[in-house]
Amino acid sequence: MPVHNNPESWREALKFINRCPICSSSYKVETAKLFAKTDTASLVHLTCSSCSSYFVAMVIVVGQGLSSVGMVTDLSYDDARRLYAAPALTTDELIEGYTELNKEFFLQSLLLKG
Ligand SMILES: [Zn+2]
Repeated sequence: MPVHNNPESWREALKFINRCPICSSSYKVETAKLFAKTDTASLVHLTCSSCSSYFVAMVIVVGQGLSSVGMVTDLSYDDARRLYAAPALTTDELIEGYTELNKEFFLQSLLLKG
C-alpha cells in the first residue's frame, strides 16, 4: 500500500529517528506527537525520556517512500504547536530586535524592569 494513503505513515519514519542526538538514548515512540500535517509532509515533535531534550522532525512523502529531516529545538510540544500557526517574523521586527539587543545597558534594563 502506498505510504501516502496511510494517515499514520509518519510513524514509519520514526524507525530512522531512533536515537536522541544529545544523549544517544533510544526514543520511546509513544513520545512522538504530530503537530502539523499537509498532504505530503508531517511535522513531528519528540521528547527524549532520558535528557528531556526536544527534537522536531519533518517527515516528507517522496514518491512511494518517506524522507525525514530534523533538528534539536528548545520548543516544547505546546510551543511548537502554537508557534507553527504564528505568522513569521518580518524583516522590520528582526532589525528592531537586533537594535534593542545592541543598545547599551540592554541587560541591565531587563533586570530593572522586574
Ligand atoms: Zn536525550
